[in-house]
Amino acid sequence: MTTISTIENDPAGGQPLPALLRAEPDRNCPLCPRLAAFREAARAREPGWFNSPVPSFGDPDGRLLIVGLAPGLQGANRTGRPFTGDFAGDLLYATLLEYGFARGVYQARPDDGLTLVDCRISNAVRCVPPQNKPLPLEISTCRPFLSATIETMPGLRAIVALGRVAHDSMLKVLGLRAAAAPFAHGAIHAAAAVKLYDSYHCSRYNTNTRVLTPEMFRSVFAKVKADLR
Ligand code: SF4
Repeated sequence: MTTISTIENDPAGGQPLPALLRAEPDRNCPLCPRLAAFREAARAREPGWFNSPVPSFGDPDGRLLIVGLAPGLQGANRTGRPFTGDFAGDLLYATLLEYGFARGVYQARPDDGLTLVDCRISNAVRCVPPQNKPLPLEISTCRPFLSATIETMPGLRAIVALGRVAHDSMLKVLGLRAAAAPFAHGAIHAAAAVKLYDSYHCSRYNTNTRVLTPEMFRSVFAKVKADLR
């Protein structure tokens, strides 16, 4: 497994870093050469965009963590906040507001004042991948940041995995066997004090094709909300 020690900037002088520092990659993280090159090309083309690994958003003391696939090119990669600025965010944030996991008004901008309540959002892969498709090696290379993110959440009880890639990466983080915890929309998998809730990803493609309806998406968060009472 790739370790954080290969990242540029080593503030701990070779000593193990606390999870809080390990949870967020350097903005020039070089660990996935293909994604780093894609990021550089985007910086040259769109210098006003974020174009860096997108940090987690929300409350580290929250009991709920939502894990997506990766930043969308014109969504989180542009704005710097997970699921902000593209179609997937419209459905996700509307649902979080409905179930009390967010407060404010979502306006698709990182400065819209929206706050998450008892909840945090992250991605299995922190850099935007071409065609929204990270390679298996890139998913595993970025996994230590996901693991460290979970370490920074002492009260974590529920994880919603949006899509199969997030689900599979979470299984590895949680030490669950794939055969014992297959991905299925609405499935719930127990791992010690944490439950993993599966949902189809709230992408435009999935909603346009009715693979995921808003009602199906809401039902996952209704279950999480009920379980956290
Ligand atoms: S995807 Fe993750 S590991 Fe790969 S370059 Fe970006 S931050 Fe680094």
